[in-house]
Amino acid sequence: MLQERDSTIAANPAARSDWTREQIAALFDLPFTELVFRAAEVHRAHHRAGEIQLCTLLSIKTGGCPEDCGYCSQSVKADSGIEATKLMEVQAVLQSAAQAKDNGSKRFCMGAAWRNPKERDMPAVIAMVKGVREMGLETCMTLGMLTPGQAKQLADAGLDYYNHNIDTSPERYEEVITTRTFADRLNTLDNVRAAGINVCSGGIVGMGETRADRVGFVHALATMEQHPESVPVNALVPVKGTVLGNMLADTPLAKIDDIEFVRTVAVARITMPLSMVRLSAGRESMSEATQSLCFMAGANSIFTGDKLLTAANAGDDADSAMFARLGLKPMEGEEPLRAMKAVGGCSGGCAA
Ligand code: SF4
Repeated sequence: MLQERDSTIAANPAARSDWTREQIAALFDLPFTELVFRAAEVHRAHHRAGEIQLCTLLSIKTGGCPEDCGYCSQSVKADSGIEATKLMEVQAVLQSAAQAKDNGSKRFCMGAAWRNPKERDMPAVIAMVKGVREMGLETCMTLGMLTPGQAKQLADAGLDYYNHNIDTSPERYEEVITTRTFADRLNTLDNVRAAGINVCSGGIVGMGETRADRVGFVHALATMEQHPESVPVNALVPVKGTVLGNMLADTPLAKIDDIEFVRTVAVARITMPLSMVRLSAGRESMSEATQSLCFMAGANSIFTGDKLLTAANAGDDADSAMFARLGLKPMEGEEPLRAMKAVGGCSGGCAA
């Protein structure tokens, strides 16, 4: 049964922001079964265990991105063979959203390979937000850096969530990306928060980082004054042609150890108990057993469909079969957090 439904993340004492790195490292160091057990307890206290939210992510503008994220095949610096496209037409995006809804998705995420949206792009993305919301789907966008004014425009359009990942630990950041700083990331997250949009922010593990970097990554999120409402945890799938793909593919580091990945999910769940923890990229190469451990450890959302931006994903049929085998149900109705807000009122002025 859900508890503490009458308070937001900001007000809920369970969502503490004073985690130390030592405390987070100590969680990572727990015996695996003890860690997963503790995470499962936290999960059951705040979420409907056994229900997983289905989300769909559509690339509304692919490739040609001027940023140099070492993991990304859409960067102009990557030799990945991905061709740059223009921003999709609004109507085509709405058709994809309708299809996603028919397939059971509750949330529709739209991603554009931009450093930041230009002012001329804003009318189209605003029309996409409004159109997808009118279908009764939650909306999320990831468009790169936002000015305060752009965040306000998206908030006024009714955008539910804005995704802007911190990617990795602050210390490791410049080894992965050189065209922006960790502080730039936090600045956009501040703009999103100030506009009253829910924050979706997580990162990628398996980029050749150390355990200490994973501790630093979770610490950066869990010590935010208000935890992100949504925390995607991605496992890198190294793509040849990208900086990290060229470095890691065909090496023992090409895939994060499954147990270490589950540990990261569990520590995210314990330290950010009210957030949605989303299993994102990398699921396609994960066994059902590993995914099951992630669900036990508190992951409560997946991305469905054959594609995740430009990467292969597990696909709706595979997921339906897995849900049937595991006895999981797609999450119906509102996310627990959104239900909490409906009862307690949204202190962040969000559009939900
Ligand atoms: S991750 Fe996003 S910002 Fe980075 S290169 Fe890819 S599309 Fe651009």
